Amino acid sequence: MRLFLFSCFFFTLNTAVLASETTHWGYDEDVSPEHWGSLSEQFKTCETGKNQTPINIAQTYKSTTKHKLDIQYKASPNDIIFNGHTVQINTKNDDHHDYIEIDHEKFFLKQFHFHTPSENEIYGKQYPLEMHFVHVNNKGELAVLAVMFNIGQENSELNTLWKNVPEKENEDKIFSQNINIEKFIPKNHGYYRFSGSLTTPPCSEGLIWIILKQPLTLSNQQLDIFKTRLSHHHNQRPIQPLNGRIVIEQ
Ligand SMILES: [Zn+2]
Repeated sequence: MRLFLFSCFFFTLNTAVLASETTHWGYDEDVSPEHWGSLSEQFKTCETGKNQTPINIAQTYKSTTKHKLDIQYKASPNDIIFNGHTVQINTKNDDHHDYIEIDHEKFFLKQFHFHTPSENEIYGKQYPLEMHFVHVNNKGELAVLAVMFNIGQENSELNTLWKNVPEKENEDKIFSQNINIEKFIPKNHGYYRFSGSLTTPPCSEGLIWIILKQPLTLSNQQLDIFKTRLSHHHNQRPIQPLNGRIVIEQ
């Protein structure tokens, strides 16, 4: 009986993983964000979740105690992929050099990727590009650091990334060139913090979201390269209700 239960559990777990990998979802028509929750049993949280991301940051609670955010990125990209939804750069799996530290807890960088236009908004402002750095701690909890981009001067490191995006969808390309990830982090580390979710299926909740206040810039041409890779479709989920959540400003 025990064994039976165990194998059932294992089966369910596997099915869940397979569903999120194989169920087709997107940003338009019958697979758009409004439909995610009904595309698969595993995507239900996209519809029923109460702590979903993105949000519009319009009201904040200014924290009186200092919670320092320490960002330590030493640049160790492993591979780059266009997965049909975004351009994603994965870090070396066993590499614990790149991390952020929040409240004395380290979250290690797993991957970073892009959205156009921005998913989160700050006082109703939508930015042309938003970059997401996805981290995990030793307990398997996730934290996402977001950086906004305005149109302006080009970002040199972005050129290196765009040059390396594989032609084919879902083709993994090993990243051999050095990049300086710190060029994707503004000097000022003031931030907004809230509890949220993945912005893509399965929309799992319980993530720490940190949005840096100071935006960076990219050129119009650099934005066009990314948009062309997305075949001129956007990859931004609409704003989700706050449902009483508080945004902390630091
Ligand atoms: Zn994202």
